Amino acid sequence: MTRTVRALSMFSGGLDSLLATRVIKDLGVEVVALHFTAPFIRPISRGASERGVEYWRRVLGVTVREIKMGPEFIDVIRAPMYGHGKNLNPCVDCKIFMLRKAATIMETERFDFVVTGEVLGQRPMSQRRDTLAAIEKHSTLRGRLLRPLCAKLLAPTIPEEEGLIDREKLFDFSGRSRAPQLALAAALGIADPPGSAGGCLLTDKNYAKRLARLLSIQTEITDAGFELLTIGRHFDLDGHGTLVVSRNENENHLLERFRGAATFFLEPQDWPGPVALILHSENPAHVTLAARFMARYGKIKPGKTVSVQPIVAGEPFAIGAEPIDEETILRLRINS
Ligand code: SF4
Repeated sequence: MTRTVRALSMFSGGLDSLLATRVIKDLGVEVVALHFTAPFIRPISRGASERGVEYWRRVLGVTVREIKMGPEFIDVIRAPMYGHGKNLNPCVDCKIFMLRKAATIMETERFDFVVTGEVLGQRPMSQRRDTLAAIEKHSTLRGRLLRPLCAKLLAPTIPEEEGLIDREKLFDFSGRSRAPQLALAAALGIADPPGSAGGCLLTDKNYAKRLARLLSIQTEITDAGFELLTIGRHFDLDGHGTLVVSRNENENHLLERFRGAATFFLEPQDWPGPVALILHSENPAHVTLAARFMARYGKIKPGKTVSVQPIVAGEPFAIGAEPIDEETILRLRINS
């Protein structure tokens, strides 16, 4: 009797990892897809197509397991062995980090190998031949990391050598063109294939600037701290305190959720305008400054004054403020 071959697949929800998972599953392998989550990774359940884990479970016919990256990933962002990409994205180290977690699961749960959707030469930094080799080496998966979409361009892996996987059924995709992947998706009958997974928020210039500043003033960052970086306009108050001003009605509600973490929460009094949070500062001058930012983004005419209600420890009091000048905005804003 032949035994069941079992593999873990690194599944981002993008086209390449979908194809890699499907190709290996179609070879009769029992596949468990690992989907890593972090506050800076847009979850597939909230992606543009609203395709969540349940959707992929159904379509792929494999178990999809969500795994949290965990706070230890902050050290990887701070000091990656292979450096950052264009912004704060440590892609090579990130892949190593995730594959090490997969390697542990492989060992403890007796899987035969791990699959990724990597394509040789598709990304300039993380998918070069030497980088693919380094990722494999540091992942501790030596010989048990199979890249089905470009396997024929790489040395045979242990599952291929042991005859668990027929190398002839694998592919030789390389380069940046998506055409071979789309053709494969069509051949496999995958209607409406997803696009590439794209980069996480660490690849976003403004998000990276906000996060870099936070990393320079805080040792630990909570999930809520990461989330706050995606909301509102951010300003630097004397190097340590932060002012966040909402950009629209929806963000007014979102910022309300962070009220408990703020030293001051400011609401407009009797006029429609943004709300503001002050974090890590009890300086009264910053409250007045925040009120002036609110007046500016509430589109109050220069010279006119509005009333703002700062709330601290449940004690509201009213202050008047006129709009802040552009020069101060440029000097204090964290993102460009
Ligand atoms: S884009 Fe983000 S999630 Fe993807 S490999 Fe790079 S750092 Fe990791």
